[in-house]
Amino acid sequence: VDAPLPAARPRRIVVPSGGIGGARFLRGLLAAAPDAEVTVIGNTADDITLFGLRICPDLDTLMYTLGGGIHVEQGWGRDQETYVVKSELAAYGAGPDWFGLGDRDLATHIVRTQMLDAGYPLSEVTTALCTSWGLAARGVRLLPMTDDRVETHVVIESAGREGGTSRRAVHFQEYWVRLRAEPVAHEVVAVGADTARPGPGVIDALAGADLVLLPPSNPVVSIGTILAVPGIRDALRATPARVVVLSPVIGGAPVRGMADKVLAAIGVASTAEAVAALYGGRESGGLLDGWLVDEHDADAVPVVEALGVRCAAVPLLMPDQEHAAAMAHAALGLAAELKVAPA
Ligand code: GDP
Ligand code: CA
Repeated sequence: VDAPLPAARPRRIVVPSGGIGGARFLRGLLAAAPDAEVTVIGNTADDITLFGLRICPDLDTLMYTLGGGIHVEQGWGRDQETYVVKSELAAYGAGPDWFGLGDRDLATHIVRTQMLDAGYPLSEVTTALCTSWGLAARGVRLLPMTDDRVETHVVIESAGREGGTSRRAVHFQEYWVRLRAEPVAHEVVAVGADTARPGPGVIDALAGADLVLLPPSNPVVSIGTILAVPGIRDALRATPARVVVLSPVIGGAPVRGMADKVLAAIGVASTAEAVAALYGGRESGGLLDGWLVDEHDADAVPVVEALGVRCAAVPLLMPDQEHAAAMAHAALGLAAELKVAPA
């Protein structure tokens, strides 16, 4: 029996998200759906401890972007940032020097680390920080995917003795930021994910959602790591809400950044249709009800629809908030066309 079409304007929207791609899309979503209650499930597998401070790059990118404190052009870090502490550390020869720790940003890491050391779980710390940034007033909750420690490691090839090569695993930040994803990546491992538990509220949010939107976040090291937390993929499969995803790949390449490197590591081509197949259609055990590709990838539409996934081609570039809002409108439109997924 066909279920009735859901209300055209979903109230409870859940968005599993990485950092920059997710945050830029969410800014557009808040503009496109100002009445919605938006719950963001943030990736924490990029997290790292440096100088004794716990740093959560994706949570912070989301918090600063939605709280109005982001360095807009850069896409990460604080606006009006200064780097006095970084240069003083460099003068002491205290490394690492490759991670961009700004003075304003450091205040966030200090407060977070203090609260974690006092015994608060990351979810409560995140709520406290987000309250300070006024996120609740904007209708947004930010939930870490887990309170447990999960860290993405990348197995790379590096020069060994006598001109040979050997493989070693490095923290994702070292691979991404210090090495700029240049070494060949053989494997991406979310260390700790297999025993991690979903953060408080995560499963309930998915179960109670009217709509789930996956922004154009990295399919491997942002969405992939969220899905690696046991229970989250099942909750996405079980949600009565439709799941609509926006492609992070346009014209055979990630829009900005190096997502193609980690897609290659898991054997997936950097095309919109290959990433759609990675997530899979709901009817065949996957996650997707709908998939938006960029207008340049209109050829991919029938390929994606053959997976049993409703697909449309629309502009998917986010140079500014207006474009991101138009993308969110398109995603809401595609969702409204879809009937409630079969149980
Ligand atoms: P990160 O954690 O900061 O790397 O951010 P995300 O994982 O949320 O998003 C990164 C991904 O966003 C990149 O791999 C790109 O593929 C994608 N992306 C960035 N800008 C755009 C854009 O303007 N349009 C689309 N469709 N994707 C984008
Ligand atoms: Ca990230």
